[in-house]
Amino acid sequence: MATIVQKYGGTSVGTIDKIKAVAKKVIERKKEGNDIVVVVSAMGKTTDKLIDMAKQISDNPNKREMDMLISTGEQVTIALLSMAFQESGYDSVSLTGFQAGIKTGGVHTKNRIFDIEIQNVENHLKNGKIVVVAGFQGMNENGDITTLGRGGSDTTAVALAAKLNCTCEIYTDVDGIYGVDPRIWPNAKKLDYISYEEMMEMASLGAGVMETRAVEIGCKYKIPIYVASTHGNQKGTYIKEYDETMEEKVITGLSISDDVLMVTVNNVPYNSKNISIIFDKLAKHHVNIDMISQTAPFNGYINVSFTASKEDVSTINEVEKELKGEIQGIKVSKESDITKLSVVGIGMMKQSGVASSIFTIFAENDIDFKQVTTSEISISYTLDSKDKQKAVTVLAQKLNL
Ligand code: ASP
Ligand code: MG
Repeated sequence: MATIVQKYGGTSVGTIDKIKAVAKKVIERKKEGNDIVVVVSAMGKTTDKLIDMAKQISDNPNKREMDMLISTGEQVTIALLSMAFQESGYDSVSLTGFQAGIKTGGVHTKNRIFDIEIQNVENHLKNGKIVVVAGFQGMNENGDITTLGRGGSDTTAVALAAKLNCTCEIYTDVDGIYGVDPRIWPNAKKLDYISYEEMMEMASLGAGVMETRAVEIGCKYKIPIYVASTHGNQKGTYIKEYDETMEEKVITGLSISDDVLMVTVNNVPYNSKNISIIFDKLAKHHVNIDMISQTAPFNGYINVSFTASKEDVSTINEVEKELKGEIQGIKVSKESDITKLSVVGIGMMKQSGVASSIFTIFAENDIDFKQVTTSEISISYTLDSKDKQKAVTVLAQKLNL
């Protein structure tokens, strides 16, 4: 008999009928003889609606009260789902994060799980109950209700699985992890497996299926995570430890991000002090810099480009004003029609020549890129957004994604 943690997201429990359908799906697995913990999100857009209500009272609502408010969404779902099990003749109990022993620390609305006292969950499982746990919430050392940040139910599920040392199944409205976003490349192939490292890299580079923190916990405790559709029985994707049986592919996926603001500081008198002034100011204003490039000096001047998130545009405007006061004669230009494409693959660690083969693909297809950066398992390129579709298409075709 195995223990399984299953998680169902907000869309999967968005209506009473959907909650009944989830109950049916869980019961099938229970009948096979498994012990089951189900983690659920708030129904549909409930969390957004709760946040919206708070915003009608205050622009900056107290964070403790915010946690008190937004944690209620999940509590509605757990009670209803537990009732659905009972109605079908299965013993079940719903537990809030606190009742499930989830202890958190950090700042309100962005707490982290630091431990789970799992005895209560285990006792209920021993008594044959289907245990339904509220995702996204826990309790801090003051006994206050906390939440884990948007999308945090994934984290609850994987952390429970880590504590119970079992597989975590995430059911959602997509049917697995694809090598490329199927909305941009419709022939994208679903992956049978992806390593934790690749998944974390893809997520941090902009591919948003699962919460990154949940994958980090899976990686740390070596908990296999299975991502599949709530509906039907098509095979999903396993996120697990890299091993030889995984496909011997150098590139596993291509992630695409349009949240790129490229800033170029032109006419910078060439000396290293000026470069440090620019990046020091950005750092002091907490602007997160992604890529950096610099032209070779020409007549004693250089141009420096960097990319950041579009969210930071107003802060960058501030920085621009300050810089103009300190470095005479500079001109700053900003481009926002920029896309970042990143190829990701753990196989790159052992294989050389990946960057050059992609340069060749771009050259053969007249695609100009602006910047390149690499990590151990990824290579990222920025290019004009007008070339995005073409670049994704040729890369996906050539790399068989
Ligand atoms: N209900 C929370 C949210 O909408 C947590 C989750 O769905 O994972 O962010
Ligand atoms: Mg989610």
